[in-house]
Amino acid sequence: MHHRYDVLVVGAGGAGLMAALYAAKGNVSVACISKLYPTRSHTGAAQGGVGAALGNIQEDHWEWHMYDTIKGGDYLTDQDAAEIFAKDVIEAVYELEHMGLPFSRTEEGKIAQRKFGGHTRDFGKAAVERSCYAKDRTGHMILQTLYQQNVKEGTMFFNEFHVLDLIIENGRCSGVVAYELSTGEIHTFHAKAVILAAGGYGRIFKITSNALTLTGDLMSIYYRKGLPLEDMEFYQFHPTGLTKLGILVTEGIRGEGGILRNKDGERFMERYAPTLKDLAPRDIVSRSIYTEIREGRGVGPDKDAVNIDLTHLPRDVIENKLSEITDLSRTYLGLDPVKDLVPIQPTAHYAMGGIPTTIDGECIADDSGSLIEGLYAAGEQACVSLHGANRLGTNSLGDLIVFGRRSGINAAKYARHVELAEMPENPEVESRALIENLKNADGSENAARIRKELQETMMNNVGIFRNGPDMEKQVEILRELRARYQHVNVQDPSQRFNSELIEALELGFMLDCAEAMTHSALNRTESRGAHDREDFHTRDDVNWLKHSMAYKDFARPGNVRIGYKPVVFKDSGDGEYESLTTYTPAEAAEFKFPPKPRTF
Ligand SMILES: Cc1cc2nc3c(=O)[nH]c(=O)nc-3n(C[C@H](O)[C@H](O)[C@H](O)COP(=O)(O)OP(=O)(O)OC[C@H]3O[C@@H](n4cnc5c(N)ncnc54)[C@H](O)[C@@H]3O)c2cc1C
Repeated sequence: MHHRYDVLVVGAGGAGLMAALYAAKGNVSVACISKLYPTRSHTGAAQGGVGAALGNIQEDHWEWHMYDTIKGGDYLTDQDAAEIFAKDVIEAVYELEHMGLPFSRTEEGKIAQRKFGGHTRDFGKAAVERSCYAKDRTGHMILQTLYQQNVKEGTMFFNEFHVLDLIIENGRCSGVVAYELSTGEIHTFHAKAVILAAGGYGRIFKITSNALTLTGDLMSIYYRKGLPLEDMEFYQFHPTGLTKLGILVTEGIRGEGGILRNKDGERFMERYAPTLKDLAPRDIVSRSIYTEIREGRGVGPDKDAVNIDLTHLPRDVIENKLSEITDLSRTYLGLDPVKDLVPIQPTAHYAMGGIPTTIDGECIADDSGSLIEGLYAAGEQACVSLHGANRLGTNSLGDLIVFGRRSGINAAKYARHVELAEMPENPEVESRALIENLKNADGSENAARIRKELQETMMNNVGIFRNGPDMEKQVEILRELRARYQHVNVQDPSQRFNSELIEALELGFMLDCAEAMTHSALNRTESRGAHDREDFHTRDDVNWLKHSMAYKDFARPGNVRIGYKPVVFKDSGDGEYESLTTYTPAEAAEFKFPPKPRTF
């Protein structure tokens, strides 16, 4: 089946919905394609909140937020992106409020704010309340609010459609190919502009906070076209996942006063980060926990966890402000945070790297910054690069709404000026071949087994602590897993809801993401942000203050070619920038076009 729209959005998480909403406000026809029902997207799991310098509890300024973001990113953050972000996120939060998002409130009725790791006042002097939250269901509320707004603006939704390919010819994107889960049919979507917002890929690791569906599909599809993935070596481990399960324990729990303790009951973060203690940036807390475990001060049957202690907090804080996680620990661990210590361990959480984009969301095709016409990306799957080498908590939700909006606005502007590009004759040929190969392989291998091995080896060899020999071993393991993947056979012949087929396709995407990550991590011989190398212990600004760009090496399968892109600085250096375009409320309101054209 063939469809035509002005703007297509792939993904219906916070980034996709914000992009779709703004594209629709630009009076173009918009469709959003999602492999999940929109409100089931992973954004809905975000508990902690969205950081914005509203200053509702204490004095705060966007400059302080920008500073924290750049410092948290260990100076790999592009500073133009950080400036736009810190300014725009304030107004974007008010915009969500005005759309009806039920934020928690202060006594005076303002949006409530709480502390979060790495967010400080006055350039690092002390922690500041910056995270705006709706209890511990902030992401859920964002999805519900944005979905309603999209319905109102007339965005068309194609739910449970799995995108398998992007159509790019002569440097221009003209649409996507998708597999419809309920019928097994292949659909082609022809569009003037496409926005990719398909989320992260945490499922390549064994212990992860990420939903089952976060398999890096669109990153892999981009990479398979010979296009680069930026800063893939930077992957954040959240310090606190429920032990063994990886389910996230929000950082809000420490923002509200929760304390990490080792087996001796010691508040060990006092030793590693004397000022910020339990609220130090995530990479520091994760590494501190691992060091405690390695040095024999862990808890639990395998001594591979530490405890989070909430027992000194008032019951109503635990029951009300942290209700979600209280429920989860009662349900999954049989522990009650009101009186019990809860064992946690670091869990794979967030991809700083991904599809490289400009601050306007345009996809970058090479080291020199060439663009693919008509193609945009936003959200966790994109790399603007706002988060540099490590993201601060609450900055992802902000990223979704600020850069989702910019992509939506720019895609609509673009779509209004161009005609539909021609599509190749049979755009779905490669997607059909992908499925046929999986149905016709000899079947000597099993996808679930390969996935398990991938997740375990990535956790051990490219996890929190990294070193050359282990990562070289992982390169070989990935080559072997990829060779075995060729023999995976999907035995379920059904046309309808063939989840075996989907899982096998997703495994192929995960193998690509793992390959780009491992090679990028092996290549970067320094420690910076979340990338911690035991064999290169310090940050090396002379050689490594640059973004890496990983390209699939078609001439040598299983290899990756690495290029580089400069970091953008505010005051000096090659990447210097001067003026910035942020969208103030007045400008956003002016974003009105002539009446909507008919939907195809
Ligand atoms: C448990 C948890 C808690 C978090 N808490 C916070 C927090 O408090 N604050 C914060 O700032 N950040 C938080 N984060 C991070 C943040 O929530 C995510 O980075 C962010 O929500 C990602 O949003 P997204 O729109 O990019 O993607 P997602 O919300 O993951 O959505 C991805 C979308 O892409 C679609 N998709 C994927 N592949 C395909 C395909 N092949 N075809 C069609 N559709 C596809 C999916 O259907 C889905 O709609 C948290 C993350 C987790 C996992």
